[in-house]
Parts: sequence; structure tokens; C-alpha cells
Amino acid sequence: MAKKKKAAKKTAKKKAVKKVAKKRCEAKTREGKKCKRLVVGKSKYCSVHKGGK
Ligand SMILES: [Zn+2]
Repeated sequence: MAKKKKAAKKTAKKKAVKKVAKKRCEAKTREGKKCKRLVVGKSKYCSVHKGGK
């Protein structure tokens, strides 16, 4: 009687943790530099620039 060998290979699945990258505000400061704040929701601008005219 030949016993069947089972290849018990455990495949370790690596969890790919996807970080939701928040976008930067597209507005510019008065100095012409890019705003470093993060956008609010689906807006392209941060809380400071989204509503400002
Ligand atoms: Zn901004």
C-alpha cells in the first residue's frame, strides 16, 4: 500500500495594503507656491481654498 503524499504547501498571501492617497490642494498661495494642504472630500482644494474666491 502506497500512501499518497500530499504536498501541504501553505501559500502565504501577502496583504496588499492600499493607502488612499489624498490629493494635495491645487490652489496656490499668495506667494505662488503650491498649497500643501490636503483636499477636502472630492474637491480639488483644501478647506481654505475650496470656497474662496
Ligand atoms: Zn489650499
